[in-house]
Amino acid sequence: MPAKYMIHTKPVPHRNKPLARSGVIAWEEGCLKCAVCVKTQCVYDVYKKRGLDCRQMMDSIDNLCMNCLRCVQNCPRELIHKSLNPEYREMGDIHWAPDIIASLWYQAETGKIPVSGAGYPGPFSGPGFDSMWTDMSEIVRPTRDGIHGREYISAAVDLGKTPSHLSFNDAGELAGDISLVIDIPLPILMRVPSFGATGEETIRGWLMAAKHLGTMLALPQKMISPSFDNVGQWLIPLVLPEEFDSDNIPRDARLIEVAWSENWQEVVKDIKEACPSGLISVRIPMEAGMEEKAVSLIENGIFIVHLEGSRNGRFFDDDNRYLKSGILSVHLKLVEANLRDEVTLLVSGGIAMAEHVAKAMICGADAVMVDFPCQIALECRMCRRCTEGLSCPVEIERAPSSWVAARVVNLFGAWHNQLLEVMGAMGIRDARRLRGETGRSMFFEDLERSTFTSLGKVEEGYELE
Ligand code: SF4
Ligand code: SF4
Repeated sequence: MPAKYMIHTKPVPHRNKPLARSGVIAWEEGCLKCAVCVKTQCVYDVYKKRGLDCRQMMDSIDNLCMNCLRCVQNCPRELIHKSLNPEYREMGDIHWAPDIIASLWYQAETGKIPVSGAGYPGPFSGPGFDSMWTDMSEIVRPTRDGIHGREYISAAVDLGKTPSHLSFNDAGELAGDISLVIDIPLPILMRVPSFGATGEETIRGWLMAAKHLGTMLALPQKMISPSFDNVGQWLIPLVLPEEFDSDNIPRDARLIEVAWSENWQEVVKDIKEACPSGLISVRIPMEAGMEEKAVSLIENGIFIVHLEGSRNGRFFDDDNRYLKSGILSVHLKLVEANLRDEVTLLVSGGIAMAEHVAKAMICGADAVMVDFPCQIALECRMCRRCTEGLSCPVEIERAPSSWVAARVVNLFGAWHNQLLEVMGAMGIRDARRLRGETGRSMFFEDLERSTFTSLGKVEEGYELE
């Protein structure tokens, strides 16, 4: 029996001081010069340790403060305040929100599950995956503990054409072609983000992380460097039909991805000639007509379909439709066409948190491709300066590959543990069973409909009093 899959993590410090959520503002004007100033009573010695980071032009106080608010409450003239840091508040956008970015930094630094304190302070419904809850009714069973190993919970999934049953020959050996499947120990593949101040060293670090985790990194073909030695099987070349270069495909690549185009079949034929043993995935954009494209791909011999949403987890042609409904729609179409069980549906676009992985799978994905979190793990602030040719405030391109790899391993270690927690609480012991398991989840739209649709209606034979 293979060894249990565990992702071992260890603290990997930031290279730069992260933007703190809140800042200390201490006014001098009106100070009474008390014999014992509240600043000297800070149990963390924040005011004593205070300094200026000359490189980042940053006051260290905001990162040192532990938010106990003692100094704020005890200053007799109320000269000390804590307020939200405007630079922090401006980070990212509506989807890549500051709190999500900070949480990803924390997970990459510590490898631990983020804990936000007692109780849940946020809204109970919102757009996209936020309007979906998992049924955690098995959470009371103490033996269902995937992290500490009292019960084995597998996060492994298969990519490719999974046979509906196994066949054996007369000698008792497995018959049929099992080379059509790749199994990976967690349902997460990595992908190079669409922008970022990344360099060859960064990609080398991501490849090291992919190898360590047993997953793969999808990389545009033009970014594949001859210096990436012995990593073909951890690399997914992303082929653009108009830029296909048969010489730049690692011969040991296990999976090759092609972007959808009208002539995708010709490109796939060329790829199969260049790399006969590799599986092929075709990427289709999440937009009107994607269900028909998915069915036609499968009917024409493609067994891995990659459904790509926008960077913000929405449809490309409709900003009001989210990844959740796109995955459900394609999954159910494949079920209806009786094609679902033998094929793999990969999903990407806006996957920002561990819970998105579980929810995407519940909606019908077999696995997800994650891009920006791999970069945010390297302290990216989603400022987009790199898209304008400006310097990166955290100099990602200068980060050594070993640091890059360790940060990404920590991030996915924390995500893996969260996935085990969710599956354990749902009573599911195998990630393959999570796929399409909508019966173990609740959708806000359904609950709202069932609760309120009948309100105000009067059934025949009854009268309102
Ligand atoms: S809020 Fe607490 S930790 Fe922060 S500076 Fe004041 S006393 Fe120190
Ligand atoms: S921090 Fe800003 S400049 Fe650097 S990679 Fe991220 S988005 Fe680009």
